[in-house]
Amino acid sequence: MRTTCAHCTQPLSPRQQRRKGRYCSRRCCFANSLKQRAESVGMSPARVWMAKQRGCLIDRGDAPIVTARRCCVECGSRRNLTRNSKLCTVCQSLGYRWCRRGKHTATLAEMCRTAPECRTCRTADIAERRKRKRLARIGAPPVGSVPIKVGAQRMGYSVPAVLKAIKRGWMADEVTRVGNQLWIVDQPTYAPWSWALV
Ligand SMILES: [Zn+2]
Ligand SMILES: [Zn+2]
Ligand SMILES: [Zn+2]
Repeated sequence: MRTTCAHCTQPLSPRQQRRKGRYCSRRCCFANSLKQRAESVGMSPARVWMAKQRGCLIDRGDAPIVTARRCCVECGSRRNLTRNSKLCTVCQSLGYRWCRRGKHTATLAEMCRTAPECRTCRTADIAERRKRKRLARIGAPPVGSVPIKVGAQRMGYSVPAVLKAIKRGWMADEVTRVGNQLWIVDQPTYAPWSWALV
């Protein structure tokens, strides 16, 4: 387990260590990000990102290097690359695999047994699909509406207070129920309604 920040080497808090954090702060995390490192050497982040996708990026944690030839996305080696493989045979034998959905390397333990993707990406994908299915079943929210929670926040009232006002007839034409969620027309401000609460 890491005990110090991977960027500034300051000790990590016990909480960060428990959560297997790598950086002491968001700032250190950003400073160590590929985008920031690319910008610090005057490279466009988009170019570096594309190179990473193509497998033409050597990234050893400092300034990233873009090469013309394909190289292993994990170790940057240009040797031992088989056709169409993102990883060299050495990294593959070390247990690294390429997650096709998330476009990143993962260890064998993190990969799905049945598909060329890691479990995290698969879980996220399943959740997304479920959400879409649910929306298809109950119908999409009306165009130009926001959830009650958002509307209430904009009005500066709590959700129960707004629900109470709606129950009393306030904004009756502008509120729609979809499934078990209420939606309200998206407006920068709403009609006064303090009378409705009494
Ligand atoms: Zn740090
Ligand atoms: Zn490699
Ligand atoms: Zn993944």
